[in-house]
Amino acid sequence: MASYRIPFNKPSLLGNELNYMAEAARLHHISGDGHYTKRCQALLEEALQVPKVLLTPSGTHALELIALLLDVREGDEVIVPSFTFVSTANAFVLRGARPVFADIRPDTLNLDETHLERLITPRTRAIVVVHYAGVGCEMEAILEIAGRRGVAVVEDNAHGLLGAYKGKPLGTFGCLAALSFHETKNITCGEGGALIINDPQYIERAEIIREKGTDRARFFRGEVDKYTWVDVGSSYLLSDLLAAFLYAQLEVREQIQAKRRRIWEYYAEHLREWAEAHGVRLPYVPPHCQQSYHLFYLLMPSPEERQALIAHLKARGILSVFHYQPLHLSEMGRRFGGHPGQCPVTEDVSERLLRLPFYNSMTEEELAAVVSALKEFDGWVRRTS
Ligand SMILES: *Cc1c(COP(=O)(O)O)cnc(C)c1O
Repeated sequence: MASYRIPFNKPSLLGNELNYMAEAARLHHISGDGHYTKRCQALLEEALQVPKVLLTPSGTHALELIALLLDVREGDEVIVPSFTFVSTANAFVLRGARPVFADIRPDTLNLDETHLERLITPRTRAIVVVHYAGVGCEMEAILEIAGRRGVAVVEDNAHGLLGAYKGKPLGTFGCLAALSFHETKNITCGEGGALIINDPQYIERAEIIREKGTDRARFFRGEVDKYTWVDVGSSYLLSDLLAAFLYAQLEVREQIQAKRRRIWEYYAEHLREWAEAHGVRLPYVPPHCQQSYHLFYLLMPSPEERQALIAHLKARGILSVFHYQPLHLSEMGRRFGGHPGQCPVTEDVSERLLRLPFYNSMTEEELAAVVSALKEFDGWVRRTS
């Protein structure tokens, strides 16, 4: 493994993580649904103004829980963007559904809502949107189409916690939404996630599925005198040790977001002219979207220049990385009929996109070093125009 002077991501402690973990241990409740789980859930419910949040072991598990709650089954179709993490599709494929891949908008790299009408069939059960880089999808149009066609909307909000669309928090638009607290996300506990329930009809069953298919949550609230097996289920609880770590980060979320905003704006300001001079496109955030400052990308003019720039930065000890490979062209995606040309924007963007180092403890010196290394790049392809 090469070691980098400036890594791509570096999870950092912000103060109380270890104190709270020790406190969780002292409270003698380190399994799921302990003191810190309840505090995290209450904090998120309050911050997002939603009826219910349940912590899960990962964002992937939250998506799996969503597929179970929607009763997705063999023969169903679920529309997902091709430009996303595998779990967006896998959670539904696990239940026997067929993923239907949608292309993305060239500006925000979010699911292109203008393709939805054409992709919806009588078998479509859900549309799963991903707010790429924490910039909101066109939720107004998406909800209108889905509502008219009787299809559920789910948000994979792994990138977008604390972002908003037209003033409303991301993760509060779909009937259900997933969050991730993986170490690559803005707020983390290593591995972790959450299910956001916006439609209260799902609350009781979510508690049951998450508790191995038992009505244990009802029992603890004193609503039944014993608990028993009542539905399908699994174990989708986060250890309270990790919830304690997570709570310490959630408490200082404003500080984290302010820091990440400074990093994002530093890149945007210092790279604007350089990008324009070389035909590099910087991230686009529509005026009605309040982004979550999850990542900063460059869209290089060509795949060759992207590869050359990654190598150039690597030689200077800086790790930059590409992002999602089109799901429809993956080995699994092809089994569902995915083929070249199906999602042309995804195919193009995935070969030219590069993400710059971005982490909460990133210093101004590190940012300046990345920017000056970028400006030293001379591997541009000559173009005659
Ligand atoms: C991180 C991520 C997830 C879920 O990740 P976990 O590692 O399971 O928490 C899902 N979708 C997207 C788009 C992600 O970026």
